[in-house]
Amino acid sequence: MLSTLIYRSRLTAGFSPEHLPLLVSKSQQKNENSQVTGVLLFDGTHFLQVLEGPLESVNWLYSIICNDPRHDSVVELMRDYAPRRRFNNLGMELIDLRKAEQSAIFQSPMIPRSRFFDLSGEDRVYKFIKSFMAGDWKTQFTHRTEPEDWTFTPDNRAFGAVSVPLSVGQPCQFAFQPIIEPLKGKISSLEALIRSPSGGSPQEYFGAIPPNKLHEADLYSKAWAFALANKIGIGEHKISINLLPMSLVMVPNAVNILLEQIAQNGLVPEQVIVEVTEDEVISRFDAFQIAVRELRSAGIGLAIDDFGSGFAGLSLLTRFQPDKLKIDRSIVSDIHIHGPKQAIVHAILNCCAALEISVVAEGVEKVEEWCWLEAAGVQRFQGFLFARPVLNGVPDVSWPQRRV
Ligand code: C2E
Ligand code: MN
Ligand code: MN
Repeated sequence: MLSTLIYRSRLTAGFSPEHLPLLVSKSQQKNENSQVTGVLLFDGTHFLQVLEGPLESVNWLYSIICNDPRHDSVVELMRDYAPRRRFNNLGMELIDLRKAEQSAIFQSPMIPRSRFFDLSGEDRVYKFIKSFMAGDWKTQFTHRTEPEDWTFTPDNRAFGAVSVPLSVGQPCQFAFQPIIEPLKGKISSLEALIRSPSGGSPQEYFGAIPPNKLHEADLYSKAWAFALANKIGIGEHKISINLLPMSLVMVPNAVNILLEQIAQNGLVPEQVIVEVTEDEVISRFDAFQIAVRELRSAGIGLAIDDFGSGFAGLSLLTRFQPDKLKIDRSIVSDIHIHGPKQAIVHAILNCCAALEISVVAEGVEKVEEWCWLEAAGVQRFQGFLFARPVLNGVPDVSWPQRRV
């Protein structure tokens, strides 16, 4: 099957563009052997390369390209399949866009089956080439804060190494994981994640509950989260809890029960945020709206969890606007090398800015992911890069510091 891949990258400082023609002609043989054709555009600082060939060969070549030190900031823009080659029998052509006669080649798609290519004006490959040449992407292209610029220092000034022992008969436990604003050195909230009595995952905890007791167990478990927050002494910090929206609808008097749990542990409703996942919001929208009304009238905040993992996407925001929106890990992971994810995050950020919704990036594991997101305008983060959840306590936070 003939597959197509397009990526963009940046010439490494210190590598001279003069060496490019030799480099490309050297790789010609390799490309021919693996039946990869395409085009490499260079504008003086950046590259756009189209690779086409058998799927395995393209993937293999791309993995080598990604590790080539002569360029960096490699971002995958498109993967697709095609009935025939666009750059037939040409191996890899280098087009230096700084030379007028070379950049003229792509001015018009009207030369069908020309010397170089077979592209129509409707073709996404042609559109990627044209927009690379126009350079408009540079305004969207966020210059990363370079990962090498940062070191991480663990710090637990806020809470000390508190670990609260289990009480007799405690049906569940909680682990706290902070949501932070790294550049402000601020903890934005502590998320309480449920654990089984033996410390097992949420699935393990809920798996042991009979289905008809699920919502009750979910709601009543929160008393232990607030109790832990109280024992640790979270002060004015915010606490985020996860709830199925149905737990607020099925259990009689649910919001009052929650408010009592909050008050009994010396907390106030305004410091509590309830997180519900995107899928639950959509699948039970009526029930969810009842829950929202009650929570908001009690002063409790609302966050949409796992945004982008479900079916609703941005259209969810036409029906309901939360205080906070948490971008799912599936979009966050490897965002620094993935063009489609980057475009989606830009759209989410524009939308949330217009609606005054704060955005959290979830599941940040790599410093490169954080740097890209921070440069794009995300200010709040949660993930193993900064802190892993700690059972019955609050973890140290690894705060990034700029190297001097
Ligand atoms: P969530 O609310 O999205 O919570 C974040 C999950 O991502 C947590 O998993 C956390 O440990 C994990 N995580 C955080 N940072 C990273 C990272 O950098 N990399 C990776 N790979 N994972 C990271 P956990 O604790 O297993 O919770 C899973 C889900 O269970 C939660 O997802 C939440 O939807 C649900 N859950 C947790 N506690 C409760 C609860 O009390 N009630 C209900 N209804 N659901 C809960
Ligand atoms: Mn959550
Ligand atoms: Mn989540």
